[in-house]
Amino acid sequence: MSYKSETLSYIDVNADQYTGISHEIWGFAELSLKEYKSAALYIEALKAEGFTVTENLGGMPTAFCGSYGSGRPYIGILAEYDALSGLSQKGASAVREPVEGQTATDSGHGCGHSMLGAGSFGAACAIKNYLKSTKTPGTVIFFGCPGEEGGAGKAFLAKDGYWKDLDAALTWHPGSVNEVVTGTCNSCIQVLYKFKGIAAHAAGSPEMGRSALDAVELMNTGVQYLREHMKSDCRIHYAITNAGGASPNVVQPEADVLYMVRAVAVEDSIALQARVDKIAEGAALMTETTYERIFVDGTANMVPNYVLEKLMHDKMAEVGVPQYTDEEWAYAAALKKTYPEKGVLPGMAAQKDPKIAQEVAGMVKMPQELSEKLGVAVEGLAEKPLNDFLAPFYHGNDFSPGSTDVGDVSWQTPAVQFHAVCEPSGVPGHSWQIVSCGASSIGDKGLIFAAKVLALAAIDLYEKPELLKAAKDEWKVAAAKGYTCPIPADAKPYVIE
Ligand SMILES: [Zn+2]
Ligand SMILES: [Zn+2]
Repeated sequence: MSYKSETLSYIDVNADQYTGISHEIWGFAELSLKEYKSAALYIEALKAEGFTVTENLGGMPTAFCGSYGSGRPYIGILAEYDALSGLSQKGASAVREPVEGQTATDSGHGCGHSMLGAGSFGAACAIKNYLKSTKTPGTVIFFGCPGEEGGAGKAFLAKDGYWKDLDAALTWHPGSVNEVVTGTCNSCIQVLYKFKGIAAHAAGSPEMGRSALDAVELMNTGVQYLREHMKSDCRIHYAITNAGGASPNVVQPEADVLYMVRAVAVEDSIALQARVDKIAEGAALMTETTYERIFVDGTANMVPNYVLEKLMHDKMAEVGVPQYTDEEWAYAAALKKTYPEKGVLPGMAAQKDPKIAQEVAGMVKMPQELSEKLGVAVEGLAEKPLNDFLAPFYHGNDFSPGSTDVGDVSWQTPAVQFHAVCEPSGVPGHSWQIVSCGASSIGDKGLIFAAKVLALAAIDLYEKPELLKAAKDEWKVAAAKGYTCPIPADAKPYVIE
């Protein structure tokens, strides 16, 4: 058996272990930087597989890594495992219903990170098996990265230089299209402003009161005026996370507002954030309140890498994307009917390249035989509820407005990310539908596919030094200006309670 087919069958043989971990972590549904059970599960599983584990990376109790092998190249496989609040949802159900004994406000894996970590773990184990059985020099390092949804675990690790030593970092994310991620994204900085005033009877002794809520309102007003005088690619968002209480007849003694600024270049985000700081100071001055400024997190934009993107696409084609049973089609169709049609073709490539758009338009069409076979289950759907195809290869300097802490990794080592179908087509991000899929066979198929793609890609990087060199040469040029960390040197990971 070739090492490739041996790797694929190794993952198949152990698939139940990886999907089992995915389901267990789905059940934990722990929020950012509080993923204690999830981290403990991975640490135990890594040790059982013979990995050398280092815990508490970057001052985060739920960050860790497990390495296996010896010498270079060092290939990093990234994992995430944090959930989102307000998304408790029964698994494999097409109806919105919280997990038994929970309420809808409890947490759920609405971004699919339960699958993400488990797929990466399967890959790390298969790579370990390859290194061991072929005695190839090289090291695989599984990185447990907490707080992707809030806390920017990978960026805090980047602040401490954790990615610098890697030769490449590979990761994936559950999605609704099988595609390689290309282009860049926004950098982002979050700061929490906690204003303190003086409580007083709002009618009886208003002159005694100093309103923290006024400070928040004035700060927000100041920021609205700032919008006219910032670069056009910048964004500012805010949320009042504490309005100071529900009694209008009490002058609010405290109020908090959480700010998020974005721009493509980290330097622009940092500069804009400093201007928002000045407005906070002004608001405090106007209202005779004080405030505490807490740095929450920050992420850099992404440095794309053509060589790694092409490698990932080749491996996705080589493994072959998941195919589905009638039950899976019917479940996906039922889910698809619970959210509005997006009205756009799936995948980034179809948005950017007219030729690819034409191809994809053909791929998403509901085939007559599927429609006839499943009858009412898929009735009314012009497009397939699952994207059971690989999106054509596309590489560009395009830009997606969101932010990810994979960006920080990509400034310290060549990095790549791909999406594997674990959810129905057009599903909204951070939704109960995604939580549902995390405990379904569609999700399981997606994470096993991802494990295989990651493993084969890593093996190619061990086997072909020229490939790794090409990825690094490209990266050296693309990241030549160097990494500006959006996180101040003295900042500590902030856990939102
Ligand atoms: Zn997310
Ligand atoms: Zn995510």
